[in-house]
Amino acid sequence: MMRVSPYVSPGFVMKNKDLNRYLGDLGWRRSPVPPESKAPPCVGPPAAGENLESLASTAAGCTLCRLSEKRQTVVFGEGDPKAGVMFIGEGPGAEEDRTGRPFVGQAGQLLDRMIFAMGFERQEVYIANVVKCRPPGNRDPKEDEVAACAAYLDRQIELIGPEIIVALGKPASRRLTGANKSMGALRGRWSSYRGTPLMPVFHPAFLLRNPIAKREVWEDLKLVMRRLASTPEE
Ligand code: SF4
Repeated sequence: MMRVSPYVSPGFVMKNKDLNRYLGDLGWRRSPVPPESKAPPCVGPPAAGENLESLASTAAGCTLCRLSEKRQTVVFGEGDPKAGVMFIGEGPGAEEDRTGRPFVGQAGQLLDRMIFAMGFERQEVYIANVVKCRPPGNRDPKEDEVAACAAYLDRQIELIGPEIIVALGKPASRRLTGANKSMGALRGRWSSYRGTPLMPVFHPAFLLRNPIAKREVWEDLKLVMRRLASTPEE
């Protein structure tokens, strides 16, 4: 008869500490399971004197999650620190990891063209990612990695204070809307992230594989442009 572990039952997701105990019972001396990530303790208003540079330099030494182990560079983000539009993708790829700049590969070049079509130069908007270090093999960032990096992104948004956030692709759209839905259901619909209007659109990398979806992205970006045009200048 198959022996069922006392730590495992169908549908039960084992926590790392339980898994460590289980592996210990099996005779492991040291568990190969990394400790759970610890997100920074609070996300409140930026501290006095804190700015994007000081936040970036804190992130540069960050080891809060396992993505620090294989990264070459922390890709914090770049652009106008007072941009009206902030684009947020999921995480850096190989080229971004090498250069330390977000969206500089093929998908980045397409994003540049999308930004230009909206009437902006790249340096007039702000571009960042949900996680600041490259997930190995360009996989999607895991939930605990996104949670560990959340305070950096939230601080960035607070410091920049964009009028509109554009979420690029599913991981960023899900993280920012909090809705576990498909991109088909999320794109083209306004929601808000901590009080800032949010528009999810397809990721430029998806558009490279599915050029036909560029039409939908353009419709979504036109909604963004219309909203920007109707926002009174301060
Ligand atoms: S992804 Fe974010 S939380 Fe994880 S190590 Fe990099 S900066 Fe830190």
